[in-house]
Amino acid sequence: MSTFDTVIRLVYLAAATLFVIGLHLMNSPVTARRGNLLSGAGMTGAILATVAVLIEAGSVGVTAWLVVVAGTAVGSVAGLVAARRVRMTAMPQLVSLFNAAGGGAAALVAVHDFTHAAGSHGVQVSIPLALDVLIGAVTFSGSLIASGKLHGWVPGQPILFPGSRAVTIVAAAVMAVATVMVAADSGGLAALVVLGVAALVFGVTMVLPIGGADMPVVISLLNAFTGTAVAMAGFVIGNTVLITAGALVGASGAILTKLMADAMNRSIGNIMIGGFGTGDATAAIAADGGGQVRTLSADDAAIQLAYASKVVIVPGYGLAAAQAQHQAQELAALLESRGVDVSYAIHPVAGRMPGHMNVLLAEANVPYSQLKEMEEINPEFPQVDVALVIGANDVTNPAARRPGSAISGMPILDVDKAKSVIVVKRSMGHGYAGIDNELYTDPKTGMYFADAKKALSEMTAAVKVLVG
Ligand code: NDP
Repeated sequence: MSTFDTVIRLVYLAAATLFVIGLHLMNSPVTARRGNLLSGAGMTGAILATVAVLIEAGSVGVTAWLVVVAGTAVGSVAGLVAARRVRMTAMPQLVSLFNAAGGGAAALVAVHDFTHAAGSHGVQVSIPLALDVLIGAVTFSGSLIASGKLHGWVPGQPILFPGSRAVTIVAAAVMAVATVMVAADSGGLAALVVLGVAALVFGVTMVLPIGGADMPVVISLLNAFTGTAVAMAGFVIGNTVLITAGALVGASGAILTKLMADAMNRSIGNIMIGGFGTGDATAAIAADGGGQVRTLSADDAAIQLAYASKVVIVPGYGLAAAQAQHQAQELAALLESRGVDVSYAIHPVAGRMPGHMNVLLAEANVPYSQLKEMEEINPEFPQVDVALVIGANDVTNPAARRPGSAISGMPILDVDKAKSVIVVKRSMGHGYAGIDNELYTDPKTGMYFADAKKALSEMTAAVKVLVG
């Protein structure tokens, strides 16, 4: 092996090591930023090494280089602008678009290899090639639909048209036959085209019947698919760092999918069959309609909060939608300055993606020591004077403890065990699961109907007036 080859292998090994360390650092919000930077550095090294290999081989013409440079420039600028501009609430759909790009690119690598290879492939290439096109194309079309659902371009509720299940089954059967043909290196280009088209159709019909509420799980699963497709592309073109990076994404995406499904007490199969949830059913009922709810004024809330010894803030999707993290932090800091013990209860699936609440609260400089996971905070609720629920609904719904509801079995934050509860939301509208929350009619609950940002600012002002 030449010195050049040895150096390239060492760079790839270093890149893979940085990916692993980076992933490990993402375990905690304190180190996650560093983890991202390390993984990015690994990826930059891997790209530079690959460019060096191409230069050394001298097999790439001027036009191809222009395409590579232009593609890199357009992709980098688009990625940078999208990532910088995206609102936290729109992050899942951006991730989904990135998955579509990753899966589509991996499939195209296989198509290019298939159409440009001289002679036939051995099975060691044709099997990953077939799997690459299959998984890459499913991921591409499925991720576009998932992103469209979350963005509102495709209706969020489960879409089942007459014969849609039959179309999915036929697409799956065609896909299976074409995959075997391509893997066996028979059927030529026609088999590859049939495989690509069937996989694209399957991706669409697989995701359409799944409700918006489950879309983050689907996105996580498609993320795992992207990684697997990329690893297969690595086998096709013999690139070890692509195999390593793809395998890491595939494995971590699969673990995340399982964790999310467990946190909702649903199986991945149950989620993929679809039909659950209603889409984002906010503001379904007028503020003062729908039963015996007790409403609070800002002054009522201020009295409860200012004279409490222990307050737990329970953030949910509504806090993210209102971008009220800074106002929550401001109110918490004011209460703490009066000696109130304040912490935040973080449910694993609060919001619309894993870690949603941690990221938002970190943005508002909430100290990590105040963030408490569900298992840690639940035993403390009976000693909590006020649970301040901000735009959280399903993750606090006691109905989850009983069989027969859409969220039965989902572990919840035991907010109803606190001495008193203040709920901030705009109406009696449902959360993502589309069901009533009996916490709102609990006699110890006071409802504060307003946008979270406005409500928290009003409460902070009222506390300031109250305590002078
Ligand atoms: P929910 O979706 O249950 O409820 C959010 C509540 O926020 C709504 O009831 C809404 O009521 C309120 N809201 C919306 N906008 C505002 C606003 N501007 N100001 C104040 N309130 C607002 O959120 P949770 O976080 O409790 O639960 C997350 C749900 O998402 C769960 O069902 C979970 O299973 C699901 N999910 C989460 C995933 C994750 O990884 N995080 C993954 C998959 C699913 P109103 O309209 O009345 O204001």
